Amino acid sequence: MKNLPLLKPADWVFGIVFCLLVSVPSLPAAMLSPLAEKPDWSILAGYGGSITAPEFEQLLQRVYVPDGSWREWISITSSQAVITPYPGASPVFLPIARKESEAKVSPKYWKARKERSPLPGKPLNGLRIAIDPGHLGGSFAQMEARWFRIGNSRPVEEGEMTLIVAKLLKQRLESMGAEVWLTRSKNGATTSLRPAKLMTAALGSLHEEGVAPTQKRLASEAERLFYRVGEIRNRAGLVNRVIRPDLVVCLHFNAEEWGDPKHPTLTDKNHLHLLVCGAMSGTELLHEDERYTMLLKLLGGTHAEELGVSEAVARSLARATGLPPFTYHGANALAASSNPYLWVRNLMANRLYECPVVYCEPYVMNSRAVFKRVQLGDYPGFRNVGGARLPSIYREYADAVAQGLADYYGGTAH
Ligand SMILES: [Zn+2]
Repeated sequence: MKNLPLLKPADWVFGIVFCLLVSVPSLPAAMLSPLAEKPDWSILAGYGGSITAPEFEQLLQRVYVPDGSWREWISITSSQAVITPYPGASPVFLPIARKESEAKVSPKYWKARKERSPLPGKPLNGLRIAIDPGHLGGSFAQMEARWFRIGNSRPVEEGEMTLIVAKLLKQRLESMGAEVWLTRSKNGATTSLRPAKLMTAALGSLHEEGVAPTQKRLASEAERLFYRVGEIRNRAGLVNRVIRPDLVVCLHFNAEEWGDPKHPTLTDKNHLHLLVCGAMSGTELLHEDERYTMLLKLLGGTHAEELGVSEAVARSLARATGLPPFTYHGANALAASSNPYLWVRNLMANRLYECPVVYCEPYVMNSRAVFKRVQLGDYPGFRNVGGARLPSIYREYADAVAQGLADYYGGTAH
């Protein structure tokens, strides 16, 4: 007897979600980005009098929203900023400091470099650092498209690689006096969300993008909401509510397009850059939560600190790796300073972490040079790699970040 065709679980979910689509009204004017909580705008009152009008305007225009679309939501006079939380809402009035010398201190959980006192031989004494090893790795590495393998070679897996660097970096920072936490200490997710729980949210985000919710598209959007959005939101909760560090160090490895992960394209391109928070577009700013988190980041005074510490780490990484700077050509990023390695970009991690963030993007994983070094794994000392005497790529990365932080906080930078 022939079996009757049965619906797979995914078909059931698709059916339920498709029915929901029909009943979902068009999105309200007060839009939230996927999985965001509605902001509590009353918190902004604590930042009253903490910034002058010229500084506020310069940070908005030069760093955070360079296309000028912030003007649709914020107007600044010499005595106050008038902020519209969402269309139709009562405005929030934020008093403005008349002079820099009269500006109040912003409420913040982190300490800036100038508020610290390093000890001789312990340049990071008392500094609280959260290391954020980028991505999930392990059984999710293929889902998050951070995995490739050539034949029977050792797989190149970004989430596993960032975790190796994170553990090495933790030891180095602790030996210089820092208190260090990892946002994850093993491969896998920190969030309890999973794609199957995110079908309705996936439908909403496809709807906002104007993308037809085919079964395949819906499944991949639910996965993206899990491994990127839900995961980073969970880590942000850990950083802002539990660890409350002075600095987050986000560790990543970069890549060029590799195509089929089982037959990847290798390249000779290899480069380095670091990212600081900003460069939001008018479209991103349509999300109420993105406007709010941008303002928290700006009013918290993170930019100057983020730029200073990123400069120091960029210099150290460039010296250690010899890599050239990566250059963005699109509108999604802008040069952060005269340092060619530093770029401003709106990423969930550097926006949602309320303290300063050093966001590292060294090495192209599918470059021939890096692929060769990844195959060697981690090792102490030096090895001959194609005629050059090199440390393990993981130790080179960890040592250079540690040195950059020591230079900045220990007072030898600038
Ligand atoms: Zn990455």
